[in-house]
Amino acid sequence: MIMNLHTHTHHSPDAAQTVAERITAANALGLKYMAITDHVEINRYYPAEYYHAEETEEYFYNGKGVFEASAAETESLKATCAPLTLLTGAEIGQIPQDIEKSALIYNDPRVDLILGSVHELPGRPDFYFLDYAKEDIPALVTAYFEEVLRLAQTDCYDILAHLTYGLRYLPNRRAYDLTPHRGLIDEILMTVIRKGKAIELNGSGLRKPQPYIDPDLMLIKRFRELGGEHLTISTDAHDTKYLGFGVDLLEDMARTAGFDRLTVFRRHEPCFVNL
Ligand SMILES: [Zn+2]
Ligand SMILES: [Zn+2]
Repeated sequence: MIMNLHTHTHHSPDAAQTVAERITAANALGLKYMAITDHVEINRYYPAEYYHAEETEEYFYNGKGVFEASAAETESLKATCAPLTLLTGAEIGQIPQDIEKSALIYNDPRVDLILGSVHELPGRPDFYFLDYAKEDIPALVTAYFEEVLRLAQTDCYDILAHLTYGLRYLPNRRAYDLTPHRGLIDEILMTVIRKGKAIELNGSGLRKPQPYIDPDLMLIKRFRELGGEHLTISTDAHDTKYLGFGVDLLEDMARTAGFDRLTVFRRHEPCFVNL
């Protein structure tokens, strides 16, 4: 197993286990590269009190505190985790909503890589919590991809995470026809390519009763067709038991899509690793 560049630890409000525990598991699996990318929802960068709000299951606050603790623990273990190469990162949600604070994290000298994610649209809850019976679904999906395009146009990420997150919780997700959104998706992919950034093959959906990968093979192939070079693999593990889940399959998918190498980022510099 080459890499898992998207993992959450006990520093994220929805995940468990320390970085040290993850390193032991990664070496047991034979992973070569693992990035620690705890949650920083940039629109809730400060603790809940700052916003006169309450911390709930739906809303993660204090991204700044999460990042500081996660980066400190990760950095302290980098020198002693061989044969694994450990990378310091963060998953920043909603970058276009606060580019200035996103840049603070992106430019932190400890950071190897940043995942850019859209988990929610401005003023709306995470897609996980939407009541889809009350939504105009094609309009919602268009708004999602428009927000991803705004993210892709920034300079605060290395890897565009889970490109189709906005579809993840749709009723009958696998039957949803992306054809009307293809132009917008091409624009996102071309922006990522022009900026020398990566997209990820996120395997968290492989753990679901109706398994999927995010994005699907058709979009990975399209990325390649348009000239995409930088692809990463991740399980988005929130628990050690999923650290290597589906990685072999994701590597096969990458090959099928026409990739013979993957990319890792060290201090934001892309480096190829043969598949
Ligand atoms: Zn995410
Ligand atoms: Zn994640």
